Amino acid sequence: MKIKSLWLENNQIKKTTKLNKNLTLDVLIIGGGMTGLNTALELRKSNLNIAIVEQNKVGNGVSSRTTGKINYLQETIYQDLENNYSYDIAKKYLDSQKLAIKKIKSNVYKYKIKCDLDRTKSYVFTSEKKEVKKIQSERNILKSMGVKVNEHYKIDGKFNCKYAISVNDTYVFNCVKYMNQLKEILIANKIKIYENTRVKKMKKVADGYICFTENYKIKAKKVVIACHYPFFLKPYFMPLKVSTEKSYIIAAKVKDYKKINYITSTIPCKSVRYYKDKNNYLIYASNSHNICNDLNNKKNVNKVLKEAKKLNLKVCNLWTNDDLMTVDKLPYIGPIEKNNNSLLIGTGYNTWGMTNSILAGIILSDLIQEKENKYLELFNPLRVNICSDVDKYLNNIGSNSKSFIENKIVKNKLWYNDSVFFENKNDKNIATYIDESGKRHTVLSTCPHMKCTLIFNEVEHTWDCPCHASRFDLDGKCIKGPSTYDISYKEDE
Ligand SMILES: Cc1cc2nc3c(=O)[nH]c(=O)nc-3n(C[C@H](O)[C@H](O)[C@H](O)COP(=O)(O)OP(=O)(O)OC[C@H]3O[C@@H](n4cnc5c(N)ncnc54)[C@H](O)[C@@H]3O)c2cc1C
Repeated sequence: MKIKSLWLENNQIKKTTKLNKNLTLDVLIIGGGMTGLNTALELRKSNLNIAIVEQNKVGNGVSSRTTGKINYLQETIYQDLENNYSYDIAKKYLDSQKLAIKKIKSNVYKYKIKCDLDRTKSYVFTSEKKEVKKIQSERNILKSMGVKVNEHYKIDGKFNCKYAISVNDTYVFNCVKYMNQLKEILIANKIKIYENTRVKKMKKVADGYICFTENYKIKAKKVVIACHYPFFLKPYFMPLKVSTEKSYIIAAKVKDYKKINYITSTIPCKSVRYYKDKNNYLIYASNSHNICNDLNNKKNVNKVLKEAKKLNLKVCNLWTNDDLMTVDKLPYIGPIEKNNNSLLIGTGYNTWGMTNSILAGIILSDLIQEKENKYLELFNPLRVNICSDVDKYLNNIGSNSKSFIENKIVKNKLWYNDSVFFENKNDKNIATYIDESGKRHTVLSTCPHMKCTLIFNEVEHTWDCPCHASRFDLDGKCIKGPSTYDISYKEDE
């Protein structure tokens, strides 16, 4: 079994260079995932001077570890939005998701993108009697919005199903293939892409921002924060506004390819789709949880592997992924400061980032070009819903603080046997992992972002932040934000 996303297998794409000079731009896009690439694609005809900077490789972030569903049937989101806001807001969200699906289809056909896009039937199902009513309500709302919804009492034979609904006009694809080809299209359209270039901080100036990478400065009139979790605290203070949900995903070779995908209506959720290249695969995501609440990676992975065994699946790939969950279930797309259209964001997709990143591309490009967009208000990152949000903000602070304090004190020593240990040396908190060959990997054990104590992820062999999901490789290189600093440690420090 490989510990690697199936989408990143045989992923050969030409690297682009690291930034090697100062730049002056109209638009800087920070982050080369679905959000950054789709925004650049929408801007390609704008005559603006645009560049993307990516701290690792384009298309290797959260977007490379999804289940790749392009779907508007998203658990029971429409009744959640109706409860949080109104029927009209729920309907507007549905329209936005359908627009995004239309857009992705048109990109695929227009640019002849080979990304295994396939029309499949999508289900939301439950095996619990008490959930049936909720899914029935979702069916009623969708029907009233003009969607053709089918009812079922059985799905695919793999799961016990009390009740399910399905829609027909949804898709799956290989997101990494899609992003790789977007990268080539953008380069052909003279949009510059710099890889291995991390933005570490930003400064507001009269006509935009100066962004600082390790060695160079980029001055831009507009900056798009497309890096999933913003690397700065102020403005916006993201830890208050989102929680991070993590899931464990496996791929298994199966005999048949089926044109269906399904997801449960509850958390922890189970999500399934099929994929076909030289082989047929079933992809199964399970055991989703807030990262602050369940830190033992090995235990969580074992749980999913046990489920796979029960389903008779022979696992060939295993990986994890996390996404940002907003307090009201709507993404954050737009300006993050009042009266400032120079600093824009697209994030908080609540695990539905394929459609919502396409939408972010459309909305942010309209904003940059000062065009009207009817979805601007819906996704406004500065919205506050006093009725529903305040307790969730407090919840976010609560679970972050709990994870912060607990992990500082306990350091979860009991999980690790003798291969991982934490110590204080010369006033520095450090942690060491001794690998199978006996080699010692020592790092600083405090996350540079907000000073949480890191945990060792024994399955993927990374150091992970249990509060805001930054990740570092064995020797301390930051591989995922919000941290912008490494945690490397040298013995003589
Ligand atoms: C288990 C799971 C399954 C999912 N399945 C689906 C699905 O089936 N369908 C769906 O619609 N959505 C799905 N999602 C959600 C989706 O994967 C995400 O919402 C989406 O990929 C986020 O895209 P992004 O561009 O914001 O982030 P990313 O793809 O992570 O892109 C951000 C990029 O910014 C870079 N970066 C970060 N900081 C910096 C910096 N300081 N300087 C330079 N670069 C930086 C990163 O390296 C990264 O490449 C799933 C999520 C999970 C957790």
